[in-house]
Amino acid sequence: MLKTEAFKEIKQNAEREYGGLDDFRMVAAFLVVAIHTSPLLAFTETGDFFLTRILARIAVPFFFMVSGFFVLKGENTDRTVRKFMKKTAILYGISMLLYVPLNLYNHYFQMEDFFKNFLKDIFFDGTFYHLWYLPAAIEGAAVAYFLLKKFGNKGALSVSLVLYLIGLFGDSYYGVIKGIPVLSGLYERIFSISAYTRNGIFFAPVFFVMGSIWAGKLSAGKGKPHHISFVVPAAGLAECFLAMTAEGILLHRFSIQRHDSMYVMLLPTMYFLFWLLTAFSQKGNPLLRKMAMLIYIIHPYMIVLTRMGAKALHMEKWFIENSLLHYLAVSVESLLCALLLLCLWKNWKERTDGLRKGGRRREGTRKERILEKDVRSTERAWVEINLSNLRHNAKTLQAIMPGQCELMAVVKANAYGHGANLTADCLRKEGVRQFAVASLEEGIALRKHGITEEILILGYTDIRRSRQLKKYRLVQTVIDYEYARELNACGLHLPIHIKIDTGMHRLGIDSRHVEQISGIFHLSCLKVTGIYTHLCVADSLEKEDVEYTENQIKRFYELLDVLKVKEHPDIKVHLQSSYGLLNYPGLSCDLARMGIALYGVKSALGDVTRQKPDLLPVLSLKARVGLIREIEAGETVSYGRTFTAERDSHIAILPIGYADGLPRNLSCGKGSVLIHGKRMPIVGRICMDQLAVDITGEEGIKPGDEAVLIGRDGLEEISAEELAYQADTITNELLSRLGPRLKRVPVF
Ligand SMILES: *Cc1c(COP(=O)(O)O)cnc(C)c1O
Repeated sequence: MLKTEAFKEIKQNAEREYGGLDDFRMVAAFLVVAIHTSPLLAFTETGDFFLTRILARIAVPFFFMVSGFFVLKGENTDRTVRKFMKKTAILYGISMLLYVPLNLYNHYFQMEDFFKNFLKDIFFDGTFYHLWYLPAAIEGAAVAYFLLKKFGNKGALSVSLVLYLIGLFGDSYYGVIKGIPVLSGLYERIFSISAYTRNGIFFAPVFFVMGSIWAGKLSAGKGKPHHISFVVPAAGLAECFLAMTAEGILLHRFSIQRHDSMYVMLLPTMYFLFWLLTAFSQKGNPLLRKMAMLIYIIHPYMIVLTRMGAKALHMEKWFIENSLLHYLAVSVESLLCALLLLCLWKNWKERTDGLRKGGRRREGTRKERILEKDVRSTERAWVEINLSNLRHNAKTLQAIMPGQCELMAVVKANAYGHGANLTADCLRKEGVRQFAVASLEEGIALRKHGITEEILILGYTDIRRSRQLKKYRLVQTVIDYEYARELNACGLHLPIHIKIDTGMHRLGIDSRHVEQISGIFHLSCLKVTGIYTHLCVADSLEKEDVEYTENQIKRFYELLDVLKVKEHPDIKVHLQSSYGLLNYPGLSCDLARMGIALYGVKSALGDVTRQKPDLLPVLSLKARVGLIREIEAGETVSYGRTFTAERDSHIAILPIGYADGLPRNLSCGKGSVLIHGKRMPIVGRICMDQLAVDITGEEGIKPGDEAVLIGRDGLEEISAEELAYQADTITNELLSRLGPRLKRVPVF
C-alpha cells in the first residue's frame, strides 16, 4: 500500500470506532442552524417549538458530551484537556474578531455599562448570540475535569447533576421558583453575571462528565463497543425523547420557562443517544468534526447574507418569509462556506508545511505528495515494515502466554530498527497496552507521538530528570536501592518497577537483599507498580544453562513469596523476554517483555526453542541499483583494491553503506544481495554510503531495479538471521543499527 494512505489509515484507525459521533456532529450543527432560523415558524408554531426548542436542544449537549468523551478520557487527560481549552480559546478569540463587523452593525459597542457587560459576555454570554458555546465549553471542561479528578466518576456526576438542577430552575423551570422571593433574588444575582443558567457552570459540566464516563466504560470493554446492541439504546432514546417532548410542551403551555435549553429528560435522552451513536462501529472522520464546528461558527453570518441577498434580489417572499426555504438556504450557504474555508486552510497549511519541512516529504505540497505516492520507486534505500506480520506475531505470542499474562512490546532502539512510532501505532491498535523502552528519550518520543499506553523505561535515567518522568507519565525501573532512595528524595510521586538481579548481574537489586527490596515499598513517594527480573541464558537449552535459568526463576518467585507480592494485585510481575517465553512458557506472571520475537526473527541462526510458534519476519531491507558499470578482467573495485575481476565483469553500485547500518564486515564476498530473485555477492569493501555487487552474467538488470539485502525476492530469501551470522553478530544488533537515513515504509 502507498505510504500516504498507510499513514492516514494508521491515524484514522486510532479513532475508528466512533464514526457515528462524527456523523452526528453534522446533524447537530444543522439543528443549531434550525434554532436560529426557526424553519417551521411560517407553517406551524407548535411544530417549530418542537423542532427548535425541544429536538434541537440535544445539539449543544451533544457537542459537550462528545468533547468530554474525547478530551476527558483515559490517562493523558491532563494534556488533552489543556490542549482542548487552549484550542477552544483560540477559536473563541478568532470568532469574536470575526463577529466584530456584525457587532458594529448591531451597535454592540454602544451598549450601556459597556465594560461590565462586555466582561459578562466574554465569560458567559458570548459577544454574539451563538458564541456563548465556546466559553461554556472551556468552563465546562475545566469544571468537569476538576470534579472528576477530585471526586471520581460518581462524585463528579453527582456534583454536576446538582449544578444542572440549579441551572434547571433558572431555565425551563424558572416559573416554579419565581414566586419564592429568596430564590428568585438569588437567581437574579446569577443572571446579573450570566444572562442564562445555560452556561459553562450549570449546564455544560454534566455533559462533559457523562462523556468522560462513557469513554471510560467503552475503553474498559477494550474500546470495542461491538457487543453493545442497538435495540436497547434505540428504545431508550425513543422513550426518553418522547418524555422530553411532553415535558417541553407542558412547560411551554404553562409558561413556566424563562429559557428552553434545559430539561430533566434531556439527561437520559443524551445518555441513550450517545449509547446508540457509539454502538455504530465505523471510521471516524476528522473532516466532519471541523466542518460541524465551522458551520456552527459561521451560520449567523449566512443568516445575514441570506437576508441581504433576498432583499437585494427582491426575493423576500421566497427566502425570508418562507421560513423553511430560509433555513435551507442558510444551511447550504453555511455548508459551502465551511467547505471553502477548509480548502483554503488546507492549501495554506500545505504551502507553509512545504516551506518549513523543505525536502522532507510528509503531508507536503501536491508535488511532494506525488513523490510520496510510491516512495519505493524513488528512495535510494529503505526499510519495509510488514505490519500484518507484526500483528500476526503479536497475536501468536499472546496466544502462547498464560491467560492473565499480557504482552509488553519492547520498542527500544527504534523498535529494533523497525521504527518505534510505526510499530507502536500498529500494536496499540491490536490492543497492546504495555510498551517498554530503554531510555527516557525514547519514552518521551513515544508520548509526543501520541502513544498513551503504559511505557516502562528499562534502563538508567538520571535522577535530575525525574520531572520528565512525571511530566510524560513514564514508569522508571529502579535499578538499585540507592537509586530508589534518591528518586524518592525528589519528592515527586512516581510509579516504578523494581528490577531484581537473580543472576544476570547487570541492573537490579540482588534478590537476596530482601530488606532493601522491601524497603522500597515503604518509600513514601514511590509507588511500586511492578517487579521484574531478566534471564541471561534463557536462549540456551544446554543442561547447565537450563539449570542456571531455573535457579534464576526460583530465586525470583521465592522473593515474590517473601514480599507477599501476590497480595497486591496491582503490582505487575514479569521476567520473560523473547527466549524466556519461548523456552519457559507457562510461568505465572502478568507481563512478558517481547522484543526480538515480536519482530519475527531469532537472535541467531539455528537457535532452537521449546516453543516454536509460527513467527513471521517483519522487516525487509532494500536498496535500488544506482549504477551499472563494466570493468575489465584485472581491474579492481572500491577502497583498498581488495576485489580484482577475474573476467570482464558487470558491477552494480547500490547506494547503501555502513552508515545505514549495514555491517562493514560483510565486505568482500561475505555478504550477498538479491536482485531479480537471484543471489549475488557483495564485492570489494563496503563504503560508508555505497557498495558494489558483482552481477556478471545476469542479463536485464538496470539502474532503478530493486535489490534486497534482508528479505525475500521470488524464491530466494536472505533472512536477518543469515545476514547477522555472516556479519558475526546477532539479529538484535543488526536490526537495531539500521540507521535513521533509511525510511521506514509500512506495507500491509
Ligand atoms: C531488551 C530487553 C528485553 C527484550 O528482549 P528480547 O530478547 O529482544 O525479547 C526484555 N527485557 C529487558 C530488560 C530488555 O532490556
